[in-house]
Order: sequence, then structure tokens, then C-alpha cells
Amino acid sequence: MVLIPSLLRSRSIVLLFLILFTSLPLSAQRPLGERAVKSKIDHEVTHASQSVTGRECRDHVAWLADDARGGRLAGTLGAIDSANYIERFFMNQSLKPGGLNGNWRQSFIIPGRTGQRGPLETSNLLRLKVSEEALRSVDLKYASEFLPHADSPDSILSGDCVFTFGDLIASDPRGRDPLKDRIVILPVPEALSRKDLGDFCEQITSRGSTGLILVGEGAVPADLQRPDSWTLGSGDRLPIPVVRVFATGCNKLWKISGRPERSWIFQSTDDGPLPMGRPRIDLEIRREGRDLSQGSNVLARFMGSDPQLRSEFVVIGAHYDHVGRGMIDGLSRGGKGEIHNGADDNASGVAAMLEIAEAYALLSKKPKRSILFVAFDAEELGLHGSSAFVASSGYDHEQLHGMINLDMIGRNDLQSVMVGKRSSDVSLGIHLARSAKALGMTLEEEGMEEFLDRSDQAPFLRAGIPSVFFFGGLHDDYHMPQDDLESVRPEKISNVARLAFLTSWFLANEAESVSSEPTSN
Ligand SMILES: [Zn+2]
Repeated sequence: MVLIPSLLRSRSIVLLFLILFTSLPLSAQRPLGERAVKSKIDHEVTHASQSVTGRECRDHVAWLADDARGGRLAGTLGAIDSANYIERFFMNQSLKPGGLNGNWRQSFIIPGRTGQRGPLETSNLLRLKVSEEALRSVDLKYASEFLPHADSPDSILSGDCVFTFGDLIASDPRGRDPLKDRIVILPVPEALSRKDLGDFCEQITSRGSTGLILVGEGAVPADLQRPDSWTLGSGDRLPIPVVRVFATGCNKLWKISGRPERSWIFQSTDDGPLPMGRPRIDLEIRREGRDLSQGSNVLARFMGSDPQLRSEFVVIGAHYDHVGRGMIDGLSRGGKGEIHNGADDNASGVAAMLEIAEAYALLSKKPKRSILFVAFDAEELGLHGSSAFVASSGYDHEQLHGMINLDMIGRNDLQSVMVGKRSSDVSLGIHLARSAKALGMTLEEEGMEEFLDRSDQAPFLRAGIPSVFFFGGLHDDYHMPQDDLESVRPEKISNVARLAFLTSWFLANEAESVSSEPTSN
């Protein structure tokens, strides 16, 4: 959940609210939507909800809130790895990609971070192989034998090579373009200006090239002490990965190619770009923190059964990012430099979302509407993932039937949970009350208005989509390095996950939602 400085001062008031209202039931709801509550909860649905266990939730939190994730600051490797973990889990439940054009992801730019990049990782790889199947391969040494260009996009790439000495005109214009789908190897006798490099990249990219390897005198960095600054990044991304290969690296390259460099140069001067039989290249460029301005939501669908209603979605969301090492002002409440694992905030919500996805996958009877799971990125930096989703996910707002947000649900009382929603979303309230009753849980609504703007339900509410925020309540470790696995209560997570699962089931199956006239909130 987003930290608001003023809240820290009023925290005691919030806690007072918590204490005062913990034992109060949901304010009495008049049974407006009788049709929504008439039937008993299907046995199979109850059974699926029970598949959510505290142990499984704890396992997810343990992985996401491990020190190895480094606090999951948006854009850092720990966050990227977490997104991959979530995507893999969705895949393993046989869910379908939920993004545009069959993508698992929705990428977006995090405002205010344009051009911010993390340092290159030493695990960058440039491997030369005799052939795809070859057992023999040679890895170039990072920094001493090769370096990615500072403006190179991060990438994982395999491909065959084409040699050119700069002249890109193919000798046989009727044939296949030799640049297409190949990595270009280009000797640079003198240092190449950033503009010339950019222009050259544009040119070969338009012809289908997938990467560029610079070799020769001009590829030698001026300052090998600081590899990442060998060419200062301009902040302008190159369209394809660009790598420079230095002396001994070049020797390895020519050796595997079967010919010395000068022989390639002679022939290509006459014939134009020359496809190379070998080497075949594996290239990986990764940065610790890659492009810090890139956010990535992870989306997965579980399709409903009703021919008409299945084009509508109930969104179940949880943000997976946290505040890293607390180095960004305004995000941490203490412990600058220490890893903030964010076990409650919000590994707990992600764990619940994943287990809800698994519960749906277990059902043979599908809900009428579809379910869309969204793991939001960059929530802590200002709800950027959820804002990007609502603004440009490709789903019309009319298709979004409701939204359930899970953020910080792993602490405090096991049998009660705070729920933030608009009182005007009447049928949502009915579904919540019914689900809570079935599970013997208590809902606390009082004092939640002030939290409605502070997590990923906010952009959905602004778009007029009925939404509910499940929240376990604040605690002393909120946005502190002490928000660790040990203090999370796995049974709280599984209880809230079951509640959210049932609520989503009722939302997905209702004939239509009942809302009173729009009110002030
Ligand atoms: Zn937070």
C-alpha cells in the first residue's frame, strides 16, 4: 500500500479505529439483491475455496519476501523475477494470458523515471557456437572481451550472423535479405559516434536484423575501469541489442568463423553483406535494475461459461512490487539501505491471488463471467500499474464487472478483515456479507474511506467500476525492513483469499449488479 506521510502522524487514530471496530459486524445490509443470494453455495465452490491453505500461501510469501528479491522495487531484478514467478504460476494453472494479443504482460512507463537504468550485471553472456546443436561453444568474458552498449535494450537472443563492412547493399537483390533475422557483425576501425551508431541500428533493424556486434579498434572502450560508462548512455534506447567485442574476444570469433577478419572484409567489400555459416550466437544482456522506468503488470484469464457474460471480467488484483532497499525518499519509514522484504506488503496479497487462481483452476463448473487476475507493478511508486491497466489494458471499462484488490492481508486478527468499498455498490456488499457469513469471518468497514485512494482499487473506482479493497490493517512494521515472513500469519492470508474467492464467484455469477444512485463517494 502506498505510504502517505501524513498518515504516519494519524496512525494512532487509525489503530484506534481498528480497535474500536474490530468486533463490529458489517453495517446491516438490507437484502436488496435477493436473487443474488437465493441459492446455497455450490458444494464444488466450497470445496475449491478450501483448496486455499495457509501453508501454500506461506510458501509464496517466503519466495517473494526472500532477501534474494531485494525488496522488489519496480524495475529491479527482484521485481522482474517476481513477475516471472507469478507468470509461471498462472501458466501452471492452465490459465490463459490476460493481456492484449495473447500477452501475459502489460508494459508501461513509470512516470518520472525515464532513462533511469541499473548497472550492468556481470552475468551478461555472449556465447559463440559452431552450430545450434554443437557441443562446442565458447563464452566471451564479460567486460574484458565484450560489453553491451550502455543504450542497449536488455535481451535474450540467439541467432546466426551476417558480416558487413558497412555497405549494406546485397549483391542479389532478388534473394532473401541477408540481414533479415541475423545478428550483424560490423568492424569499426574508428570510434563510432552515438548518432552514427543509432542511424546504423535503425537501418539494419528496418531490414530485420536482430542485433549488432561491433568489432575492431573503434570498439575498444576508452575507460575499461568503468565498463558501464564506456559510452555514456544517452537515455535513448537503441532499437536492438548492441555489443562490442574486444581483442581476444575477436580472436575467438574469427577462429570459430573459420576465416580471419581480413578475409571477411575483402569479400564483403565486393559482395556486400555475407551470411556467416558460423558462429551461431547466444546473447544475454541483463541489468541489475534494467530499465527502471519500465513497469510490467502480469495478467491471466480464467474464461467464464456464459456465452454472453464471459466477455465481462471480475478483476482480482494484488501488487507485487515493494520499496526495495528503502532508498527512495518517501517510500520507507526507516532502515535506509536495508532490504524491505514486504512480506505483508504485498507478498501476502499476491499469495492470495495465486491461490485464488488455483482454486478457479480446480473447478469443473465455471463461473458465468470470466475472471482476470492482475499482478500490478509500481504500486508503491504511485499506483502506476493499476492506473496503466485502467487506462490502456485493452479492456473496455464496461467489460470490467467488478474489482477485488488484495493488499496487506497477512497481519492482525485471523477471522476479521477490513473492507473498503463504496456504499453505493450494493450488490457487492451483499456478496461480501454472504461470503463472510459462510466462512465465519467479520468484515470491518469503518474508517476505510481514507484507504480507498491508497491502493490499486483507486483507479478502478475512479472509472466507476465496483471495487473492494481487502486490507488486514496497519502495523508497526508497515514500510519498514521488519515486514518479514516471520510476522505474517499464513492463516489470515488463506482466510482472506477464501473470502475474496467466494465474493468473486458471486460477482461473476450474478444476473446484474445492483447499485444505488451515484453518491458522494
Ligand atoms: Zn505499501
